[in-house]
Amino acid sequence: MQQTHASEPALIADEQVRDVLIVGGGTAGWMAAAALSKSFYKKGRRIRLVESDEIGTVGVGEATIPAIRTFNEVLGIDENEFIRETKGTFKLGIEFVNWGNLGERYIHPFGVYGSPMADNIPFHHYWLKLRDAGYDTDLSDFSLSIAAAKRERFSRPKNIPNSPLAQMAYAFQFDAGLYAKYLRKFAEKRDVQRIEGKVSSVSLRQDDGFVESITLENGEVLTADLFIDCTGFRGLLIEGALKTGYEDWTHWLPCDRAVAAPCESNGPPIPYTRSTARKAGWQWRIPLQHRIGNGHVYSSQYMSDDEATSILLDNLEGKLLAEPKLLRFTTGRRNKFWNKNCIAIGLSGGFMEPLESTSIHLIQTGVTKLMSLFPDKRFSQSLIDRYNELTVFEYERVRDFLILHYKVNQRTDSTFWEYCRNMPIPDYLSNKLELYKTGGHIFRDNEELFGIPSWLAVMEGQNFRAQGHHPLSDAREASRLNEHLSKMKQVIAHCAESLPTHAEFIAQHCAHTDQD
Ligand SMILES: Cc1cc2nc3c(=O)[nH]c(=O)nc-3n(C[C@H](O)[C@H](O)[C@H](O)COP(=O)(O)OP(=O)(O)OC[C@H]3O[C@@H](n4cnc5c(N)ncnc54)[C@H](O)[C@@H]3O)c2cc1C
Repeated sequence: MQQTHASEPALIADEQVRDVLIVGGGTAGWMAAAALSKSFYKKGRRIRLVESDEIGTVGVGEATIPAIRTFNEVLGIDENEFIRETKGTFKLGIEFVNWGNLGERYIHPFGVYGSPMADNIPFHHYWLKLRDAGYDTDLSDFSLSIAAAKRERFSRPKNIPNSPLAQMAYAFQFDAGLYAKYLRKFAEKRDVQRIEGKVSSVSLRQDDGFVESITLENGEVLTADLFIDCTGFRGLLIEGALKTGYEDWTHWLPCDRAVAAPCESNGPPIPYTRSTARKAGWQWRIPLQHRIGNGHVYSSQYMSDDEATSILLDNLEGKLLAEPKLLRFTTGRRNKFWNKNCIAIGLSGGFMEPLESTSIHLIQTGVTKLMSLFPDKRFSQSLIDRYNELTVFEYERVRDFLILHYKVNQRTDSTFWEYCRNMPIPDYLSNKLELYKTGGHIFRDNEELFGIPSWLAVMEGQNFRAQGHHPLSDAREASRLNEHLSKMKQVIAHCAESLPTHAEFIAQHCAHTDQD
């Protein structure tokens, strides 16, 4: 019998998962490889990744949410180097244009609105109280991220006690292809072995149906204890071999296609992503250091590919840099993300369209959960069930937040938007809407990704109004409260003014050069 490593407890060495095979080298594959290599470097595990240059990657995941900074921190990545190498920019939120009604816009910011008040109820109840008392008060004035975004300014949080500047929340916009390359370098330095090749078949064990091996087109057979399926929409292992099944959410998230095309920048990059609602979907604009990423996400039931492409091309702000790329998808999730000895991470696990830039985040949390529930060769069913339970919860809560954007629209210019407004929605979302409507209540359910400020931003941004506010906020007299909130607004505006421009910040800290 093999000897157990001194640092490893109880388990017999034979039962350790020692051989991990990641199939697929897009963002998901290389994020998984980087995280595993960081934890397992020189710890007696073999981590390999198979990918096919010929097949390529989706390569359009370009905007993120702030939690990605935790991923970078855990890996020990230098943020300036990472931004430089991925030609990245900073992101303070998403501007939504034409979502409530044509001609309207709002920003869903990262970070909080206002600052905590004494009575232990969320800040927005005081803002609602002022509005109910007839004061003309704009929610967006209470967000530092919005104030900075509107001025195209940015800085990382500053260590100034009690200042809004200490709370600056941000994420990144980057070139997804360069991100995968960057992580590949990181993982290969820590002994991850990359294998170039196209998977031609997957074999299952006869006795229990676990994945036994994959075979490449050149005839090479690769076995492993644990397989991570990062093959994108194909889901070669999780679906192709294991027939896990897929829950289709198209009736709630009706967009099923995207056409993407980069264009030249028409000015310094702005520190936020823009989402402009179109007739049967929406268009993204993601500014990077060297170009703008654009795409039009739409429902094929309501719009043809040709029309979607011409809408995209008609709305580019600079010279087209590459031929438009068409992508087809079905919003939804795999019935099980972890099935036997195979875990689907990334697009192979599900896709909810890029409206709130959540896919890369779901890769991150998939990898993090895998690390915390890392199995041995017995593949305990309770461990697998726990992973699936947590992931389903996470996906469904993100799903409901995305549906909110479609549901709460007042557009009357197209059948697509009418469908969205009238469609039945999941009970959880109905309940959230009802709670907000009756008294302005918003609760964050356990580890739900989007918190109070996010729900508030979208509901109010799209004219879904609360009728009333928390009774405890009535303990404050309206004119005194108005004075207090007016000062708060001024401090936030002043803080935003004090920041360097986004372009200056990049130039000073992390501008890409051709030597990178
Ligand atoms: C239109 C659109 C816009 C998006 N925008 C965002 C965004 O702004 N923010 C965000 O967080 N996410 C976004 N996403 C999601 C994001 O792109 C993906 O989550 C991310 O790129 C992960 O993809 P992946 O690695 O799972 O799959 P892929 O990029 O498809 O990678 C699959 C890998 O599997 C390999 N492979 C497949 N078949 C085989 C085979 N037979 N043999 C060998 N190798 C194989 C491929 O070569 C490739 O390496 C977007 C997605 C789409 C569709």
